[in-house]
Amino acid sequence: GPALLFVKTSQGKEEGRRFYACSACRDRKDCNFFQWEDEKVSEERLAAREEYNRNHQPSFTHRQNVERYKNFVLLPLSKRRFCQECQQLLLPEEWEKHLDHQFLCDISTAQLKSPSQLLYPLENKKTNAQYLFADRSCQFLLKLFTDLGFRRVLSVGTPRLHEMIQSKASQEEDFRIRSLLLDIDFRYSQFYTEDEFCHYNMFNDYFFGGEAARETCRKFLYEDNGERVIMVTDPPFGGLVEALASSFKKLMTMWKETGKEGHDNKEMPMFWIFPYFFESRILDFFPSFSMMDYQVDYDNHALYKHGKTGRRQSPVRIFTNLTPSMIVLPVEEGYRFCTICQRYVSSGNQHCEICNSCTSKDGRRWKHCVLCKKCVKPSWFHCNNCNCCALQNHSCEKTGAACFVCGKAGHKRSACPSLPGT
Ligand code: SAH
Ligand code: ZN
Ligand code: ZN
Ligand code: ZN
Ligand code: ZN
Repeated sequence: GPALLFVKTSQGKEEGRRFYACSACRDRKDCNFFQWEDEKVSEERLAAREEYNRNHQPSFTHRQNVERYKNFVLLPLSKRRFCQECQQLLLPEEWEKHLDHQFLCDISTAQLKSPSQLLYPLENKKTNAQYLFADRSCQFLLKLFTDLGFRRVLSVGTPRLHEMIQSKASQEEDFRIRSLLLDIDFRYSQFYTEDEFCHYNMFNDYFFGGEAARETCRKFLYEDNGERVIMVTDPPFGGLVEALASSFKKLMTMWKETGKEGHDNKEMPMFWIFPYFFESRILDFFPSFSMMDYQVDYDNHALYKHGKTGRRQSPVRIFTNLTPSMIVLPVEEGYRFCTICQRYVSSGNQHCEICNSCTSKDGRRWKHCVLCKKCVKPSWFHCNNCNCCALQNHSCEKTGAACFVCGKAGHKRSACPSLPGT
């Protein structure tokens, strides 16, 4: 899809030079597209780029993959193979081409219903970084949506949540929630129809399936017989917040346009799942959002597992435009209701009389600094040099450049005080 316009700033200069680069890949190793904004592109280079794009298409279209799936499920168990190297379901006539590849045999219906377990998680840190929800977090989200009366879930980059909804819907008679998955991971097109999955780039709001796919999404957002929709997204954490926010606003607009009078001043309900240290960035773009204390857990992320008895705590939270008091957090997992703040908080999150709010972001008890006029992490001390609170062993001289994680000056991303454990 369309590239994004970036700006290269060099120190000391007011204005930087603008250039286009790939929206999805932050690492130039993954996609080397680069073009100055004012660059004149020759016919040859344009042709070469088009040629390159043609040669880098998936081997099957979504439509073809749907046909293949239909044939695949008709096969007896003994003939159902999945090539782990190509990440592809194999039909018997294709076995020969994959003989020296590792493959799985006897792919069951249950396995086909849990593609996120069958496919290996893409781990490229800057591009895909698939961190799959732990079962308890996935169950928590789904139960919450059920209790709040939602009937449709637009799953943007949440394949595991989508899969849980799909398999419940096929197994339980009275389960009425439907889900549409939007994700850039095209491997999922092998398992879902065009009404269940759209190949989508959330950094530029691009539907690879064109107008037909966009229409599928629009139809899904149309609230028939009062069936309420919520959008859930869990983008890669290296993602640019402004690019994501701009796409999500477009999806919100799409929802708004499907409604009649009913949607007048309302926003599409949304859960944006992201680390807490992006709070101010997200609120810049979505002032109606608030951050919940719930810690989202992941299966394949050693750092981001729920903190009980010495394990690391997850820094990942839910940002939502729903009324905080409606988001009931499980008492048995250590949350309580603060009657003053009118929201559920971590049990360690003490209400600060001076801030008049439950101020902890990471679940630990924070302390109020009268000089900073706010609550800070328990490990911080007020530094008279820097005129703010920081870790005791911080170095006072400023580095100038802003930190990649929190956007504040004074430290590099590796030393960011927002990261867990500091
Ligand atoms: N916790 C979620 C997965 C989050 S990982 C779950 O368990 O369901 C981030 C997801 O975003 C992955 O599924 C990844 O494929 C997807 N993704 C990464 N970059 C994307 C992009 N540019 N557009 C759309 N989806 C993207
Ligand atoms: Zn193969
Ligand atoms: Zn409180
Ligand atoms: Zn305070
Ligand atoms: Zn201070």
